[in-house]
Amino acid sequence: MKRSALAVLAVAALAGCTTQGAADDDGQLRVVTTVAPLTSIIADVVGDRGRVTGLVPEGTNSHTFDPPPSAGEALAEADVIFVNGLKLEEPTKELAERTRRPDTEVVELGSVLPESDYLYDFSFPREEGKPNPHLWTDPTFAVKYAEKTRDTLSDLDPDGADTYRANTEAFTRKADSLADALRADQESLPRDQRELLTYHDAYAYFARTFGWTVIGAIQPKDFAEPTPREVAALIDQVRRENVKAVFGSEVFPSKVLEQIGDATGVRYVDVLRDDDLPGGPGDPEHSWLGLMRFDYVTMIEALGGEAPRLRALDTGGSVDADYPQ
Ligand SMILES: [Zn+2]
Repeated sequence: MKRSALAVLAVAALAGCTTQGAADDDGQLRVVTTVAPLTSIIADVVGDRGRVTGLVPEGTNSHTFDPPPSAGEALAEADVIFVNGLKLEEPTKELAERTRRPDTEVVELGSVLPESDYLYDFSFPREEGKPNPHLWTDPTFAVKYAEKTRDTLSDLDPDGADTYRANTEAFTRKADSLADALRADQESLPRDQRELLTYHDAYAYFARTFGWTVIGAIQPKDFAEPTPREVAALIDQVRRENVKAVFGSEVFPSKVLEQIGDATGVRYVDVLRDDDLPGGPGDPEHSWLGLMRFDYVTMIEALGGEAPRLRALDTGGSVDADYPQ
């Protein structure tokens, strides 16, 4: 990457012009990403030095997403391609490897986590070799994603290094204030009630960092519905563990939660979002920060706590990107 940028710069210097190495005709870096929370984090780091395009439409099951042929065009024009990795977007990664320019790097942001720290569970069993990929629901990993993006972009576009550093600092301040608000608000819940029973298993790393317990995830590894026997076992578990609420997510509508709620009298909340940003492009909450604030508020309040610090958080100031809808 560096080598080709330098080569272009050398040619540009010879020709006496100022065309920038790694950028396209309009002088902007072309950055391609996958799921919307990553797109938002990366767009904040890129700032005004490039165009960021996400490939996975919001409201899609990102775990089984197969990219359309049009994704190949965006990937072929990319100066850099960011994926989450941890086996989340294998078909998109394979298409990227086939269609990328030879000097365009495919960067796995999930590699900020050493393999020894991967989490496996019911929905992501170890024997399948697919770890739980949802690092971005934990703000401490979102900061690491931003830092890896900053380092990658600074190598690719050294003239922008100061901008990427400043943008990453600004993102880190937002992520830190989110984490601080979460830590303060979760105190309104007794420790033994910071428990999650979710349909889609997106909060494993968040739980490990912030001292929550994921008592279970309902969705089987093949994204089918659980069997009647598994549902019966979950109903027993909900009764036994005195769970206050069970959580579903927008992208995975399921009758199972309603069934569990009816059988146990426990409240079910089916609005969590793991990679589907609230609002629409241009709205302040249509961002990684808006997404996570929404989920944390939803969890804390459904379990009987209060979330005034999270609610008061300013979600403005995120950079927009091309989000396919
Ligand atoms: Zn997911």
